[in-house]
Amino acid sequence: MNLFFPLVLVIGKMFHIDSDKIKSSFVEMNNDLVRSRDLKVKPSQILLLAPHCLQNNDCPHKITVKIDNCQRCGGCPAKELLELRDYYGINIGMAAGGTLARKYVQEYRPHAIVAIACERDLTSGILDTNPIPVLGVTNERPCGPCFNTGVKMPGVEEAIRFFISEKEYKTAVCSD
Ligand code: SF4
Ligand code: SF4
Repeated sequence: MNLFFPLVLVIGKMFHIDSDKIKSSFVEMNNDLVRSRDLKVKPSQILLLAPHCLQNNDCPHKITVKIDNCQRCGGCPAKELLELRDYYGINIGMAAGGTLARKYVQEYRPHAIVAIACERDLTSGILDTNPIPVLGVTNERPCGPCFNTGVKMPGVEEAIRFFISEKEYKTAVCSD
């Protein structure tokens, strides 16, 4: 994928195909490939990567420094993402760009990643973290890019569950 994707972008440009459409197809194709494999890991080996644009722009808490700075007021998806982290026992990082996202990957050394972002950032993130399997969940951008974005939480949870075996799931959520 790393070899051919830049080539596909160049060919797409030659034929005047919108690069966002190509990136969106790339994310879908990546997700299909990941789902075609039986990839099960421990919850502690999963990293949920979320973009800073999910945070409510008026929130004063610096959650990209430390996501637990979130006061869980429910004003943006950060609260529910933290609840998913706590419920499944996975790791989470909120990144304000590729450098911070790479830092989280180095810190947690995940065996699987669930990444939330726009098609552009998902594409570069998937290519960057190869060969770690990544399930990409596209954010919603009702106010335009990079500002007060949202995400469908069932899609995020479903992606997390994909990587967890039934046994690991029970161990994670049934223990104290
Ligand atoms: S849930 Fe509330 S406290 Fe947490 S980041 Fe969002 S707006 Fe801030
Ligand atoms: S919309 Fe995309 S580029 Fe903008 S902050 Fe969010 S994930 Fe990053």
